[in-house]
Amino acid sequence: MHKTIIIGTGPAGLTAAIYLARANMMPLVIEGWQPGGQLTTTTEVENFPGFPDGILGSELMSNMRKQAQRFGAVFKTGSVKSVDFSKRPYTLEVEGIGQLQAESVIVSTGASAKYLGIPGERENVGRGVSTCATCDGFFFRGKRLIVVGGGDSAMEEAGFLTRFASEVRLVHRREELRASKIMQDRARANEKMSWSLNCTPLEIVAGDNGLQGLRVRHNETGEEELLEADGVFVAIGHTPNTGFLGGAVDTDGQGYILVKPGTSATNIPGVFACGDVQDNTYRQAITAAGSGCMAALDCERYLEEQEHALEHV
Ligand code: NAP
Repeated sequence: MHKTIIIGTGPAGLTAAIYLARANMMPLVIEGWQPGGQLTTTTEVENFPGFPDGILGSELMSNMRKQAQRFGAVFKTGSVKSVDFSKRPYTLEVEGIGQLQAESVIVSTGASAKYLGIPGERENVGRGVSTCATCDGFFFRGKRLIVVGGGDSAMEEAGFLTRFASEVRLVHRREELRASKIMQDRARANEKMSWSLNCTPLEIVAGDNGLQGLRVRHNETGEEELLEADGVFVAIGHTPNTGFLGGAVDTDGQGYILVKPGTSATNIPGVFACGDVQDNTYRQAITAAGSGCMAALDCERYLEEQEHALEHV
């Protein structure tokens, strides 16, 4: 039986691992099939304090992992399929590992990219449709690309893709962008970018020779148009990875774990949540890391209280 199992290895899970390992709690960290989380799919991280010249996302995560290992955190690869939080110790069914039991659990499974849900999308993932510019941008040298979305992610992805593509068209369903001013300004100043605003994506069209483009409806006129492109990058936000919990922990309408204000505590004693899986607002590496620290401290306190209670039985 483990004192603590941490599920997920983004900045939240790894920070929790560093703190708990340093407190001699020997956490077991379950690393999924995308270790390091979303930061491993970005390039340069420019806003993580302490790196004045920026740092590669993958390097930052690899450093955090080493730091946790140095203090005794143990890593195992697997995918948690279900949990039983109805009785203690808590049980996790983990594909690739088997059944595990723990006195406490920290959930830091992050969030995954959303899809548009339009025809032609899912079946062309990996064949011209992508949700990760840093993973797939390289394959589109000299090609015409479309990025869908109006938030910071879309601006960032589009800007990154102009390094490879001959042109990048940003398609957004409204006239106003949701992105922060600095990201909008940067994108608008980029000469390789063009804009299709107030356009609803309808279908990704592909033929025998690959992608043809994105069919959209111009919302003002109702007219439909095929915007030609060799690749479509979908950058419309994320969904929290909480499906495996099967409702064992309280979540909001979108599936984000609910934590008690100012803490990382869920409605289940001894189960804590940190990072993007419980944060629909800030979603930054630094806030995820901060919440990972909170989860570790909350967890440590919980385990101490449990021991104390046993001593006084
Ligand atoms: P977001 O802010 O939620 O933006 C999602 C965008 O996708 C919105 O413009 C939305 O349109 C559009 N969208 C959503 N569903 C759609 C659908 N079904 N069809 C068409 N369009 C759809 O998500 P995000 O851009 O991923 O950013 C998330 C958070 O991370 C934000 O807090 C952001 O500031 C942060 N972030 C920061 C950086 C950075 O600072 N370097 C980089 C990336 C992300 P509407 O506007 O019409 O709702």
